Amino acid sequence: MSSGLGAQFVAVLESLGMASRLRQGRAAARAGQVLSMSLSTSVVVGQVQSGQVVHRCRIGIKAFTKPEWVAVEKALAGQALHAARLLAGEVPYEMFADLGLRLFPDDMRELAMDCTCDTWDMPCLHLAAVCHLLAEMFDQDPFQALAWRGRGRDELLSRLGEFRRSTREAPPVKGFWRRQQPVTVAPAEAVDRPDAVLDELAPLPLELRGDRITDLLRPAYEKLRTPPGPARS
Ligand SMILES: [Zn+2]
Repeated sequence: MSSGLGAQFVAVLESLGMASRLRQGRAAARAGQVLSMSLSTSVVVGQVQSGQVVHRCRIGIKAFTKPEWVAVEKALAGQALHAARLLAGEVPYEMFADLGLRLFPDDMRELAMDCTCDTWDMPCLHLAAVCHLLAEMFDQDPFQALAWRGRGRDELLSRLGEFRRSTREAPPVKGFWRRQQPVTVAPAEAVDRPDAVLDELAPLPLELRGDRITDLLRPAYEKLRTPPGPARS
């Protein structure tokens, strides 16, 4: 399954002048030069082999602010299809755009990159190699892109669950369904067993504190489980 986010991320970096560097970075990544990579809130750290030396790269991005995240969470919790699409590995781009947000920057100044190689011509080959793998990671798991912007998956899913519980009794917002008509995703299965998508994902290269990401996710997906609605038959 591919979220398509990786291609979008690469396109953004290319538009920011990194096209030739990315090609070099892809070759380095394919040659296995990226020894490790970890993503946490707002920063990705990679160790990249270069001859006998291992360089440490960091790629930081400005996290969404607290109010911006509240807006994202409200939109996801309030629009069941957006949440279902996210659980199915698809990022609801238009939802971010509607909120005036971009998942990826359109200005290099929103990215902070450094590397211990001290190449004058930044971003260096090592950073480009990490960017290439980052794009692959976003393809496999769009939640990583959201984590990079400041909201880890567990926290996001748990907050979505809270929003949904607190709004379960609330009447639907006027005009809500009309906005969703163009979307053709059928969320029934995802809602039926929220963690089903985990079994479809290729094994993620990342571990969190020694645990497989997918195993850590299951309880969070479970929290999103909602009782079958009266319309189901
Ligand atoms: Zn470097």
